[in-house]
Amino acid sequence: MIFTEEERMLQSTVRNFAVQELIPNALEADKTEDFWHESFNKMADIGLTGITVDSQFGGSGAGYRQAAIAIEEIARGDASSSVNLIAHLSLSTSTLNEFGNQDQKQKYLRNMASGKSIGAWALTEPGGGSDAASISTTATRDGDDYVLNGSKMYITNADVSDYMIVYAKLDKEADYKSITAFIVESNTDGVTISPLKGKLGMRSSTASEVIFDNAKVPVENRLGDEGSGFKNAMTILDSSRISIAAQCVGIGQGALDLAINYAKNRETFNKPITQHQAIQFMIADMAAAVHSARVVTMDAATLKDSKLPFSNEASIAKLIASEMCIDVTNKALQVHGGIGYFKDTNIERMFRDARVTTIYEGTSEIQRLIVARQTLQQYQ
Ligand SMILES: Cc1cc2nc3c(=O)[nH]c(=O)nc-3n(C[C@H](O)[C@H](O)[C@H](O)COP(=O)(O)OP(=O)(O)OC[C@H]3O[C@@H](n4cnc5c(N)ncnc54)[C@H](O)[C@@H]3O)c2cc1C
Repeated sequence: MIFTEEERMLQSTVRNFAVQELIPNALEADKTEDFWHESFNKMADIGLTGITVDSQFGGSGAGYRQAAIAIEEIARGDASSSVNLIAHLSLSTSTLNEFGNQDQKQKYLRNMASGKSIGAWALTEPGGGSDAASISTTATRDGDDYVLNGSKMYITNADVSDYMIVYAKLDKEADYKSITAFIVESNTDGVTISPLKGKLGMRSSTASEVIFDNAKVPVENRLGDEGSGFKNAMTILDSSRISIAAQCVGIGQGALDLAINYAKNRETFNKPITQHQAIQFMIADMAAAVHSARVVTMDAATLKDSKLPFSNEASIAKLIASEMCIDVTNKALQVHGGIGYFKDTNIERMFRDARVTTIYEGTSEIQRLIVARQTLQQYQ
């Protein structure tokens, strides 16, 4: 893969951070089922929490290629840290960066970029994940406020967040054209956030239920025009899928690192298992799959940075990279034999972490629907 000098420097900085801070501590953090504050704060220290935010609001003003490079290296060390970063940066902060007005950016974006504030992004509801248009949370205008009622589900970072981007309908019976986005301060009266315990993987990240019971949000916290929310959510999901694809490449690369390291040191039949062709072929298949996923991910990021259409390529990258990382972590665990099946190994953690990637930010089935629709359109 060809990277610029600047990209290589970023890659090396984030890789060093992951090797020194994430890899040695990821297993312990995984046991807590709590948001890993230390890792988030350190990602903030090296500028990752605002990497794609405009420089006038304290970000680095970098593109999605650089974000993808950084996210891959974080996920290679610890996938949970990468999802904490993505929910904050690629979902929440990017929504504010792209759709916020000057006042909203002055008030909220600077602290989000620096990582002083943590962001969450709340679209999914108990009754509506894939079918985002069917959400039923409402925002009813009452003088200078909107009053929010309803509930959101599986919201990453919500329990530790300062602000959430929340999508609600102005009229429960209306269609998606009524969906509107709001910046909601997480400590607002009438907002209850309850972390959901018992996740299979990504266990130093949190996902919460969020209930709105007559929660008042001032009109000035509406993001964009009334009814612009669905379009802005779909735009943000398109670009954030590049970040998820990068996360998957990182998980796959991290699993390949572990498999090779283990295989070089494990001997059977008087030789390292790297000398058995069956193991070599698994390593070749893993390396080829990780590399291919990285290429499609960086292609989608390059298109986005070049301001060219990228939605189809982002869905292709998310689909290929997420299915790749489930397959690669499975093969890497196989290379470990029995030891890989036990807790207290990083490969067991990665195998669990990988599983959610074909579910969140649009399942594989939804990605296939998007790719099929856009591909068929090209033949009309
Ligand atoms: C750990 C975690 C973190 C998350 N973080 C966030 C977050 O921060 N913010 C947020 O808003 N959401 C978040 N989510 C929610 C996530 O995006 C949804 O779970 C996901 O979009 C799927 O929605 P669902 O769970 O309602 O499944 P459903 O939509 O009920 O889907 C169930 C199954 O049916 C399939 N299916 C549905 N519709 C179709 C169709 N038309 N054609 C074919 N198959 C279909 C799906 O692919 C899936 O296999 C998170 C989820 C998890 C697990």
